[in-house]
Amino acid sequence: MDAILVVNAGSSSLKFQIFEVIDGKPDGRVRGNLDGIGVRPRLRATSKEGVLVDREYQPSEVADLPAAVGKTREWLASLDGIDLRAIGHRVVHGGPNYDRPILIDAAVLDRLAEYQELAPLHQPNNLAPIRLVMDIDPTIPQVACFDTAFHRGRPETADCYALPRSLYQDGVRRYGFHGLSYEYIAERLAEIAPTKDKLIVAHLGSGASMCAIVGGRSVESTMGFTALDGLPMGTRPGQLDPGVVLYLFQKGMSQQAVSDLLYRESGLRGLSGISNDVRDLLASTDPGAKLAIAHFIHRCGLSAGLLAAALGGLDAFVFTAGIGENSPAIRALLAEKLNWLGAELDHAANEAGATVISTAASRIELLVIPTNEELMIARQTLAIVGREKTS
Ligand code: ADP
Repeated sequence: MDAILVVNAGSSSLKFQIFEVIDGKPDGRVRGNLDGIGVRPRLRATSKEGVLVDREYQPSEVADLPAAVGKTREWLASLDGIDLRAIGHRVVHGGPNYDRPILIDAAVLDRLAEYQELAPLHQPNNLAPIRLVMDIDPTIPQVACFDTAFHRGRPETADCYALPRSLYQDGVRRYGFHGLSYEYIAERLAEIAPTKDKLIVAHLGSGASMCAIVGGRSVESTMGFTALDGLPMGTRPGQLDPGVVLYLFQKGMSQQAVSDLLYRESGLRGLSGISNDVRDLLASTDPGAKLAIAHFIHRCGLSAGLLAAALGGLDAFVFTAGIGENSPAIRALLAEKLNWLGAELDHAANEAGATVISTAASRIELLVIPTNEELMIARQTLAIVGREKTS
């Protein structure tokens, strides 16, 4: 099988997918995950035929990400008939300049390592498997696909903070994230609703953001310098007065404690005191759960208004990712916040999980489109290695 491997390496899990290249296009074949790294490591992979592997390890056997890459590689090598053409990696930060995917060599890897301090929780994990593969077999082409790339090319007015300009030069800018998801949705929309030009895409998962897109390009998004900004998320607060952070430091909290608070203990979990999972909160009658959901919807509504203003109008609003794709209740609550823009929800279509969930009379089309970041990475990787082959 002529194949592309897609790798998405995080702090506690290594996700991967194998795509077969058929007529120059990637087609998903195997989807897998080694999660619980260092705690309860478990490798699982499935294909259309069923479960291919489901194996647990001792924490000491898979204590860190390099060990997880090693175990995953061992298993992948045991599969017959895979002719690996390239590996595509999700890399969260492409810095200020990378506005498209890139073939990785030692110089590129060094450059990407410089962005580690801009995304300390993600970037080192994203780069570790690239480095390992380079050491083991430098002949395999590896491509970096960036979460920030889709947002590059925005004017400085949208990318800067009102801070001294030297900080902008140092890289303190509004990067925006979830770009692979937005690019995939923008491409799907061009097929599904080609006449819709001014779009807001709401990527609502455990990480959540919204993006304003016009002519297939990002013009604004709710995430900024880091993936902490914008909407409240599973465990992150979203938009926050920086004075709160100063206050916490004044109270004597350490940098690590503040970081843990902002990345792991806030958002829906912190506010509800119950869970970061919207399903748990919707099922609960606890006032904390109700507050967390109401706050989430309130902030999503405000952000939609902000992005509609950035677009100067709105033709379509798209729901995607875990919450956006699976929760009719959240979609209905958020659609209500869009009424003033002329959105009218078709409740039956929403409950049924249709693609178009607005009424025929609605001035704004409401859509549900499942995202597929891995397919986007496979396509981008294939485009690069295809180009390299012919050049
Ligand atoms: P990630 O950012 O980890 O990729 P996902 O896009 O998979 O996240 O979204 C995960 C979140 O989606 C879960 O935390 C959960 O709150 C939410 N979710 C998944 N299914 C449902 C559902 N049926 N109803 C409400 N929320 C859901």
